[in-house]
Amino acid sequence: MSDGCCGTAAIEIERFTAQEQTGGLPVVVIGAGPVGLAAAAHLAERGIHFQVLEAGGQAASSVAQWGHVRVFSPWKFDIDAAAHRLLEADGWTAPDPDRLPTGAELIEDYLAPLAKLFGSRVRFGAKVSAMSRLGYDRVRTNGRDDAPFLIRLDSGEELRARAVIDASGTYTSPNTLGAAGLPAHGETGLFVDHALPDVLGIDRDRFQGRHTLVVGAGHSAATTLLALAQLEDTPITWAIRGGSAGRTYGGGDADALPARGALGTRLRAHVESGRIRLLTGFFTHRVSTAGDGVEVVSRDPSGAEQTVLVDRIVSATGYRPDHSIASELRLDLDPILGSTRRLAPLIDPNQHSCGTVPAHGVDELSHPETGYYAVGVKSYGRAPTFLMATGYEQVRSVVAALAGDWEAAREVRLDLPETGVCSATLAEAQEQRVGLATGVSGGLLSTIPVSPEGDGCCG
Ligand SMILES: Cc1cc2nc3c(=O)[nH]c(=O)nc-3n(C[C@H](O)[C@H](O)[C@H](O)COP(=O)(O)OP(=O)(O)OC[C@H]3O[C@@H](n4cnc5c(N)ncnc54)[C@H](O)[C@@H]3O)c2cc1C
Repeated sequence: MSDGCCGTAAIEIERFTAQEQTGGLPVVVIGAGPVGLAAAAHLAERGIHFQVLEAGGQAASSVAQWGHVRVFSPWKFDIDAAAHRLLEADGWTAPDPDRLPTGAELIEDYLAPLAKLFGSRVRFGAKVSAMSRLGYDRVRTNGRDDAPFLIRLDSGEELRARAVIDASGTYTSPNTLGAAGLPAHGETGLFVDHALPDVLGIDRDRFQGRHTLVVGAGHSAATTLLALAQLEDTPITWAIRGGSAGRTYGGGDADALPARGALGTRLRAHVESGRIRLLTGFFTHRVSTAGDGVEVVSRDPSGAEQTVLVDRIVSATGYRPDHSIASELRLDLDPILGSTRRLAPLIDPNQHSCGTVPAHGVDELSHPETGYYAVGVKSYGRAPTFLMATGYEQVRSVVAALAGDWEAAREVRLDLPETGVCSATLAEAQEQRVGLATGVSGGLLSTIPVSPEGDGCCG
């Protein structure tokens, strides 16, 4: 195989061979979360050969991690249209469209039956460790677009694909505790739980009676704090970077969002009563063991330090995309968010919230690497404004493009209520949530911008 400057004939032969090779290859979907499985449904409807590769042992393994959390968008916004059609044709009955499911219910009543429908076309325990194009590193150009994708699993097995829809999410790459985006010194794995442990359920024993530090100013932090507050003899400290927790508290009774206001009011009451100790201006710098517990040191930009001694830490600092599996592909990433550059201004959390993110599809999701699309929550990079409904429209558009149906691919639309999917049944949301012992987060209404440090519209 020629890799010099003059091998035109060889390149033509390569291109021909590559075209022959890609013909019968599947579209590979990475991740069997809500968006990966929706992509599979659209591929199935269009009769395109596909293979879903899921790292975990079940459908939506990441959602399973937060199965105890009730989401804030009702069922009618949580089910992809193509998936709905396929499931209904199989005798499935859709859940009550106005009810708010928990993560576990999303799996049990929707995603697991959907994955089952696809049989061996969804492979579990298949973790993608790297991708490239067969015979092409990132630098080599001639004939590149016709070369099949090469997908390597962590078992060493390699697969080929005609296109890749990367719906691997961000849940497995949480942000660091370290305030500057780098891990705090000594952070790795040391008494640290990531956001939303099931404090009142299966994780109770790990928290009961243990002084817990919760780091982060978003609703995941608030949810965890309120759950911890229900455990007796369990000291709680809450650390935020900002000078005040006003943003997390919301507007109380005057809040445009009653549920969020109620959450903030309860949190504020716990802080004011001393049940929760609030540390502001906390820039986590170092974590180290101290006796049976852990010492956490904050160092602010001026060099001033604060120290707290605790038993456990919950890091609720949000998520970021891991693009390392695609590092041999040609990606055009926004330098701030890590989404595509075309998508970034549409989802900028300083300007947009979930409901004001315009519909977008294949054009906004394309990278210079033809045939590779990051979709779902991963496509948003560090922007916390992602909603399942947006992801379903993304994959409808991408799959239409892969089918050569550019008209459908470019006709992107999102029929969300003006108030956003999280607020559509706000009164009901409150009602449903009041019954929740955990005081699960009061979702943000999607017409207001969300904090880049927060954790999303509905989370
Ligand atoms: C607590 C919480 C509440 C939320 N509430 C709402 C809500 O109310 N409404 C709403 O619209 N959105 C909500 N969201 C946001 C979003 O819709 C969800 O995060 C959704 O699960 C994103 O779907 P996804 O398919 O893009 O990614 P994920 O659900 O994260 O799925 C990614 C999948 O890829 C797999 N994977 C990862 N890496 C690899 C690899 N290398 N190889 C193979 N497989 C891999 C993972 O195991 C996982 O199964 C919420 C998010 C959270 C965290």
